Amino acid sequence: MSIMSILSINHSKKPTMKNSIYPTELKCEHLTSPLAIDVKKPRISWLCAPENPNAKNKKQSAYRILVASSEEILSKNKADIWDTKKVISDKSNDIIFSGKSLRSFTKYFWKVVLWDEKNKQGNWSEFSSFSTGAMKKSDWKGEWLWMAHNRAIDKKQKRCGGNPPVLYRKSFSIKKHVKRAVLYVSALGIYEPYFNGKRIGNDFLSPGWTDYKKHVYYYGYDVTSLIKNGKNAIGCILADGWFAGFYGWNDQKAHYGNNPMLNAQLVIEFSDGKKQIVATDRTWKVNVGPFIEADFLYGEIYDARKEIPDWSNANFDDSNWPIPWRTQQPGIKLEANPAPPVKIIHKYKPVKITEQKKGVYVVDFGQNISGFVSISLKEKTGKKITLKHAEMLNPDGSIYRKNLRGDYAVDIYYCKGEKNETYQPSFTFHGFQFLEITGLSKKPQAKDLAACFISSDTPVVGKFSCSNKMINKLFSNIYHTQRMNFVDVPTDCPQRDERLGWTGDAQVYIKTAAMITDVEKFFERWLVELKIAQHTDGDFPAVAPAILDPGSGPAWAEAGIICPWVLYEMYEDKKVLEVQYDSMTKFINFMIKQSGKKLLPPKKYHCYGDWLSHNAETPHDIIYTAYFAYSADLMSRIASILGKKSDAKKYAALFENIKTAFNKAYLNKKTFRIKGDTQTCYILAIVYNLVDGQAREKAAEYLIEKIAERNYHLSTGFVGTKDIVTALEKIGRNDIAFKLLLNDSYPSWGFSIKHGATTIWERWNGWTPDEGFGDARMNSFAHYAYGAVYLWIAENIGGIRAAAPAFKKIIIKPVPGGNINSAKCEYKSVHGKISTNWKKSKNKFALEVEIPVNTTAEIHFPASSKKRLTENGKSIPKNMVQKNKNGYWVIEVGSGKYKFEL
Ligand code: BGC
Repeated sequence: MSIMSILSINHSKKPTMKNSIYPTELKCEHLTSPLAIDVKKPRISWLCAPENPNAKNKKQSAYRILVASSEEILSKNKADIWDTKKVISDKSNDIIFSGKSLRSFTKYFWKVVLWDEKNKQGNWSEFSSFSTGAMKKSDWKGEWLWMAHNRAIDKKQKRCGGNPPVLYRKSFSIKKHVKRAVLYVSALGIYEPYFNGKRIGNDFLSPGWTDYKKHVYYYGYDVTSLIKNGKNAIGCILADGWFAGFYGWNDQKAHYGNNPMLNAQLVIEFSDGKKQIVATDRTWKVNVGPFIEADFLYGEIYDARKEIPDWSNANFDDSNWPIPWRTQQPGIKLEANPAPPVKIIHKYKPVKITEQKKGVYVVDFGQNISGFVSISLKEKTGKKITLKHAEMLNPDGSIYRKNLRGDYAVDIYYCKGEKNETYQPSFTFHGFQFLEITGLSKKPQAKDLAACFISSDTPVVGKFSCSNKMINKLFSNIYHTQRMNFVDVPTDCPQRDERLGWTGDAQVYIKTAAMITDVEKFFERWLVELKIAQHTDGDFPAVAPAILDPGSGPAWAEAGIICPWVLYEMYEDKKVLEVQYDSMTKFINFMIKQSGKKLLPPKKYHCYGDWLSHNAETPHDIIYTAYFAYSADLMSRIASILGKKSDAKKYAALFENIKTAFNKAYLNKKTFRIKGDTQTCYILAIVYNLVDGQAREKAAEYLIEKIAERNYHLSTGFVGTKDIVTALEKIGRNDIAFKLLLNDSYPSWGFSIKHGATTIWERWNGWTPDEGFGDARMNSFAHYAYGAVYLWIAENIGGIRAAAPAFKKIIIKPVPGGNINSAKCEYKSVHGKISTNWKKSKNKFALEVEIPVNTTAEIHFPASSKKRLTENGKSIPKNMVQKNKNGYWVIEVGSGKYKFEL
């Protein structure tokens, strides 16, 4: 055993010092021990944990970070890269590295120690690390390789004619002892990496979707444990993916090019400190293998008879394999992927298998997901097994596929004829709950099938359950729809021929998303694409990456301001505001110019309206002006956070002027009705503070009237639904919000659940008993926009909301309502876990709360008397309990676990 490995075992001490705090969950650029980062000044974060789990009111008063080039140095409490010394600060998130400049392809080790509120020092954290990718362009040695294909689209067969995924390999020898070896892989296309015969990493669809005309990402894979003295081999399968495949609509393919390309380099660091690089060049070999074709929309065809055993092993003879091309070097930027990759996050077993017709088996996996099926087979050689995917069933039990539009979603497997063979696609994914299998010699068994659910690996941070089963199912449906659509970029839906990063959908949902999984890096990365796709006039596009331009407009384009703002609210991510600020100003200037002196919509502009609302047409100019005002308001707040005082003033004035224009143009002076007179009109006016005084009171009254007119049902689309319950909360009518939430008659969230939904539908009438399936041209069963309601659920039923960026200050205020008499909610903020667990019975209201170290919370109790308020059985000093203006009793607490009773 080397000194290094002995040290690495010894450093993980359990905390011993009582009652101080210690750092856990150390992250660099919000990732745990990232293998490839290329930012010059990465951000460092940790969570503060109390050494005594029962401690209360713990805070961090200071920290010290050490970054070293080896574990050995770090274990002596020394640092040759960065020593912050003791810094008096309670900051534990996004501390900007400012040590020695970071070298390419290097592993750095770091640890941190904290002082608590009494200036008592705790234990050092365990060691963590971060590794760099190419810090200089010239350090990347790989060349772009490709193989020529020219396959025509076979319309008759309805197959894609996409390129067959091909196998690249490179063997090489080493003679010295290896300290560390990392393989970095990039592609214009998508790849699956191998090393010495083994699939490495557990990511899919890497390196993800970027505007390949401008830049592309790579990921790093640590192969230290696989590399051996002597001969080794790198393997990589390369497929069309977003680069050359089909997506968008109307059979469009090859959005960036026809031939996918591979670019990789292995960096080997020897124990003597020397480095060797094995990079893509014309000493690599390439060949076709078992894949006939692979495409996101069409699916995969795999002929197992054509498998090439050992193709990625060191001793494989590749002398008759062709040499790849390296012409057409695209000259685009290669960057380390800053976001988590796509992974299998869950596997579902069949809940039902039926023989729908002779030899046609229909499998129900019980849950709509995005991904593919893995199947074990025992069939004769050459048997063709066809797997067709669908979200829904027809009344006769056959699969319903009309809503897939031009998406084909069929995987085909030709059997090898072995006793135990398993097939699982690698380069496609589908949106499905049901699978039709044909070609089998007998009925499949549940044990032979699994539906693999893929999603970007955004860590789960939110949990919710309550006494109402339907709301619990709603939460589950929202969760699944989010994860189905967060596949590398936030998309509209995974099943039809679209799968685009729609800006409107993203902006209405982003804050809810952040309450469920940690989406900071995911959205930071998508915003890079949005910025790249910004039009030269400053307008933001409708989709990003922008492979097509269907027209943007109000509530879509503003994603360019709203999404960075939400990342700031949720994570105190100032960097994203800095990075995006110039694109935001360009956009607001575009809006000013387009709106003219009157600050109202121009004669002609594109607008999706309150998309998919229910028989209620909200005038486009209301949406335009409300979102213009909201953007100005956010711009003013963002400018002041960035210390741009004059901008902040300018945009605050702009907001006021747009508001005046809104009132003048759209508000009836006598009745105070807003033009259009829909629920959404009043929702926007209330939530974005566009009306004051009597006009606001009237807006509140009219909103209720509009809801009551529809027998307490909503009529809102993507735009209004985002804010309807928030508007009701703002006007003190959460009672109506509960009514809407608990409805199960059409249109409502509960309606789809009553009819078996396992995800959020795109439209309220996705399926109705009277009309069956809605318009198949636009009828996805996995669209997250209406799921935005979870934010209100978490804040009100769960009772958890932020009172300061990143939940540094928290408000705990559960609102019992409807028939809900208990709820549990959790949100893991960048400071740690916040949780509530409340139960209301006849004479008692019990509330358990957990507040993380380094934060404070105001706890609001819905009660008429404070006398009997106890914590852990003991009464609370009266002077600690204040009554606030809404009639709630409020108490301020620091970190810790509390058990209140009233
Ligand atoms: C997408 C939506 C998108 C809309 C634009 C649809 O086809 O699926 O989610 O926002 O177009 O109106």
